[in-house]
Amino acid sequence: MKGTYKAVEVSAPGNLRVVERSIPDPGPGQVRIGVEACGICHTDAATVTGVYPGLKLPRVPGHEVVGRIEAMGIRGSNDRRSTRYRVHP
Ligand SMILES: [Zn+2]
Repeated sequence: MKGTYKAVEVSAPGNLRVVERSIPDPGPGQVRIGVEACGICHTDAATVTGVYPGLKLPRVPGHEVVGRIEAMGIRGSNDRRSTRYRVHP
């Protein structure tokens, strides 16, 4: 873990708050992306209003991002750092 970052979290349906979270180290086969931009979609709106099925709170909405690889776990290749990626799960 290397420091913290700020996030907007849904703590209860309709209730958003700014929180400080620990920056995780990526595990084997994972990367950590420094987010440069984040989209907000219908799923995120359903998360904020609390109607998304099976939702567990607290949760940080925003799963569609663009950013650059900051750290790689074991088995990662450093030659992909600084390349901009889009994440759209
Ligand atoms: Zn989405």
